[in-house]
This record gives sequence, C-alpha cells and structure tokens, in this order.
Amino acid sequence: MSVGTAATDSLPARALRVIPGGVNSGQRRIPGLTDLIVTGTSGATFTDAEGRVYTDYHSAFGPPLLGHNDPDVQRAVAEAATRLDLTGVAVTEGEVTLAETLVDLVPSVEKVLLTSTGSEATFHALRVARAVTGRRLIVKFQGCYHGWHDAVSLNVISSPEAVGAPDPISTGILPEVLAATLVLPFNDPAAVRAAFAEHGADIAAVILEPIPHNVGCLLPDAEFLTTLREQCTAHGSVLVFDEVITGFRHDLGGYQKIAGITPDLTTFGKAIANGAPVGALGGRADLMEQFSTRPGAPAFFAGTYNGHPWVVAAALETLRKLREQPVHEHVFRLGERVRTGLAEMYTRLGVPAVVTGYGSVFVTYFMAGGEPRSYDDLLANDANLFIGYRRRLLEHGVFELPLNLKRSHISYAHTDADVDHLIAATELAVQDAIKD
Ligand code: PMP
Repeated sequence: MSVGTAATDSLPARALRVIPGGVNSGQRRIPGLTDLIVTGTSGATFTDAEGRVYTDYHSAFGPPLLGHNDPDVQRAVAEAATRLDLTGVAVTEGEVTLAETLVDLVPSVEKVLLTSTGSEATFHALRVARAVTGRRLIVKFQGCYHGWHDAVSLNVISSPEAVGAPDPISTGILPEVLAATLVLPFNDPAAVRAAFAEHGADIAAVILEPIPHNVGCLLPDAEFLTTLREQCTAHGSVLVFDEVITGFRHDLGGYQKIAGITPDLTTFGKAIANGAPVGALGGRADLMEQFSTRPGAPAFFAGTYNGHPWVVAAALETLRKLREQPVHEHVFRLGERVRTGLAEMYTRLGVPAVVTGYGSVFVTYFMAGGEPRSYDDLLANDANLFIGYRRRLLEHGVFELPLNLKRSHISYAHTDADVDHLIAATELAVQDAIKD
C-alpha cells in the first residue's frame, strides 16, 4: 500500500500513519510529548529537532551507564563490524569471553546463555524452571516488571482496586496462564511462607527484581530475601533474580553480591552493553545444562541474533570500562548528592516528599512518611505532582520521564555541575507544578 506523504508532514504525523500510536514501544508514548523528536545523543544529553539540549536522567530506561555514545564502546562496535558479522554457526571468541566475564563477575553464575533482550532472558529462566521441576506455578511480586511475555505480564503498576487481584497489563493472555502466576506483595516474608505452605509442591519458580525499580525504588529487607532463598531451597523451587536493571549498574556482581543472596538463575540486560541489545541468562550449571544448546536437553533455546558479534563487542567493552574505571564510585557519589540535595530542598519548601533510590538511581515520591517498603505504600504518591514537575523540568533543559513512578538514572557522563542544575531546576519545577 502506498503511503501519501506531503513534504510538509511532521515526523510524528508520518509516524502515526504507519506506526500504531507512532512509537515502537508502549512505554514511549508520553502524554504531552508526542511531538518530541530526538535527533542526537551525547554523553549525559540528548538533542531534539529544534536544537534544544536536555540533560538526560531517563537514560533510555537504564542502559547507558557510561553515558550516550561512549567513544570506546562505539570504537569496539565499529572494529567488530569491520571484521565479522552474523554467521549463525557455532560460537565466536567474543561470546566465550563474555560468558567467562559474567561467570567471573557474578557470584551465582556458573554458565551463561546470551539473548537480545531482557524479556527473552526472563522467558527462558521461567521455561527452564518449569522444565526442570515439572511444576506449573510462577510467583512474582506486585510492582515488578520482567518483560512483555505472558507469564509475567501482570501486576506492575496497578490501580488501588487491582492490587491483590490478577491485573494483566495486556489482553490476549489465556486465563489459565494468568492463573498460573501467583502475585505477592514485595517485602512480605509471611506472604511468601504462606504461599509456599499452600502451593509449595507446585511452585516452579519465584522471580523478582531484587530492587523493584520499575516502580521507582523499593529497597528489599534482608529478611525478605533470606526467606525467599530458604523457601525456594526447602521446596525445590528455582529462585530467579531479574537483574536487568540492577545488574552492573549497582555492582559488577549484581545486587545479589551486595545482598549476599545466591539465586539459582539471574537475568541481565540494559547496562551490560551500554545500550546495545544484549540480554543474558546465567546461573547454576545443572539448570543451565537443561537448555537445548546441549544435545538432548529438554528446554528449547534459540535466537537468530543471540551473541551477535557487534553487540557482544559492546558488552565486552562496557564491562571492561566498568571494571577499570571508577564508574560506580562516580555515579554512587552523584546519586548520593542528588538524594541529599533534593531531600533538603523539599524539607525547606515544606513539600511532603520521600527521596529515595540506590546508587545511581533516584526517585521522589510525593507523599508523607518514610521509605516505602511495598507497592501499597506507593499508592499514596501524588501522581499529578510526580508527572507535573517533570513536565516543568523540560523548560529547564532537564529530562526525567514524565510518567508516574518512573525512576531516574545517573551516568558516568553526568557531572557535579549537572547535579547542581538538577537540584536548582527541580526546586523551580516543583513550585510551578504545585501551582498548575
Ligand atoms: N526485567 C526488568 C527488571 C526490566 O526493567 C525490563 C525492561 N524494562 C525487562 C526485564 C525486559 O527487558 P527488555 O525490555 O530488554 O525486553
């Protein structure tokens, strides 16, 4: 079919004609920002079609920990691209080196398989858990997101009425698939024990974001994580840490290294390759050996682009820089400055706010009280102010995603001057948003 395009048509208008909703991910359709066209990225910034430059704290939902267009990662990809592209046979040296690196870095990882996305990694983690245990049920937690596939497409950002009931994020999922996922509140060891007491023999896997960053930041209690490990071990269920956000961003060994908990399987993505499409699944050798990459093993695993040499080069260079340069020291220090500075500012203004986060991640909930422990606590957040001040921030050249409960990220390319500007701009933006 031919698409009539007038020379004067705007890009968003052209997009709407040929792309449903005009965007390629449901999370990129941002009310009030449908005309934004990003034409360039560099370091801590992106530029729009009108030449406006924004300091970027959205960071594409998290991958570019080193900053946009990192010159070393770009060089590594360009070098790989001149030498080798995809052949779809056997294995390349880069894939082996990347797997060795992950085994080296992450305590629980004995073997690794590469995917292109985080969703594929969590999909295969749950598939192999069911294959090995022969069981039906998956346990997930309210507020956690693990990708777009059916078993986990429920109960992320739920309305108050939907918390505690199955709350699919999509239609088109078979009811029996939804019924095979139990949803529990985060940080509630008693709920975990009760679920295992009732269903233990039928639970194939428990999957969680060790810090549920898909609703900002809920820090896990030590007792909660310990209970998950104990219950999974006692009942023969597979414990899956989804470290797609926390992995490499919070520590090269993942949040599991910080928490001192050893999951059976771990999923990675995002910061592993600074924005190149790489996901990974790693964990106990006996579980990983059940994938069909090994002859005769039962859990089918494939993917045309898995381990593509260009993106593997991006991952290897990203991990090299994360190891050799003081990236974590820098982003943790700036993260602390942001949290402290914002908290002081809100106290001074008398605006009820909880500023939280971990390391390079920060978020402010507009509500009274202390650190939130579970998704229920976040229902008190003033969503209008949360979104409103972020819309106002755009006027100051600062981009934090104006969608409710979304976290913000600091990269190695952000500076102390950026932090000063962020805090000053946020003060003005919040005061304006309160009046809006
Ligand atoms: N797990 C978590 C914790 C995520 O945040 C995401 C993506 N936001 C995914 C899995 C899915 O990753 P992808 O979008 O690469 O499929």
